[in-house]
Amino acid sequence: APAVGVFALQGDVREHVHVLEALGARTRPVRRAADLAGLDGIVLPGGESSVMDRLAGIMGLKAPLADAVRGGLPAYGTCAGMIMLAAGIENPAPGQGSLGVLDVTVRRNAFGTQVDSFEADLAVPAVSADPVHAVFIRAPAVVRVGAGVEVLAAVPASRAAGADDDGAPAADLPVAVRAGHVTATSFHPEVTGDWSFHREFLRGL
Ligand code: GLN
Repeated sequence: APAVGVFALQGDVREHVHVLEALGARTRPVRRAADLAGLDGIVLPGGESSVMDRLAGIMGLKAPLADAVRGGLPAYGTCAGMIMLAAGIENPAPGQGSLGVLDVTVRRNAFGTQVDSFEADLAVPAVSADPVHAVFIRAPAVVRVGAGVEVLAAVPASRAAGADDDGAPAADLPVAVRAGHVTATSFHPEVTGDWSFHREFLRGL
C-alpha cells in the first residue's frame, strides 16, 4: 500500500486520513521535515492557509516540503491546501506565503464568507465519469493558470463574491487544477463522501 503523508499542523487532517485509509493507503501525519522520508505522496488538507503557512515556517517544514514536491513527490491539496501549493496568492493575509509548487494564482475566499458556502455537482471528466459532488467552504478560486496547468473543473463566474456588483461578464472560475503530479481542488472531497479525487490521486502513486 502506498504511504501517504497528510500535512498535519492545521486543518481537517482526520477526514483525509479516513478517506485515504478506507481506500487502502497507509497514512502518516506530517509535522516536521523528517516525516517526509519515504512517502509516496502528500495531501494538504482544508483549514486556514495563513495558519498553515506560518506553522510550516516555524516548524522548518516549509522549504523541505516544497523541495520534496518540486522533486517529484505527488501532492494533492484541498481548499487551504490548494492555497498552500499555489505559486501566488492574490489576497494573502499579512505575511502569508505559500509553497509555490503549482503555477497558479489563487484568490482566497473567492466565493464570499462562511455563510456563502455552497455545494455543486461538477463535471470533471478527467477524474470521474459521474459528476463530482463538491462542497465549497470559504473556498479559493484560481484566477491565473500557468502554462502546463490543466483545468479539471470550473464554476460559473456568477458564483464569485461581488459578481453582482460588476456588470461585465467574466470567465468561469477554475476550482480543480492539475500540473503533472500536483493536483488541487477548491472544494473538500474529504467531507462529502465523493472520493473520486482521492482515488485518482492514489492511482497515480
Ligand atoms: N479561506 C481559507 C483559507 O484562506 C480556506 C478555507 C478552507 O480550507 N475551507 O485558507
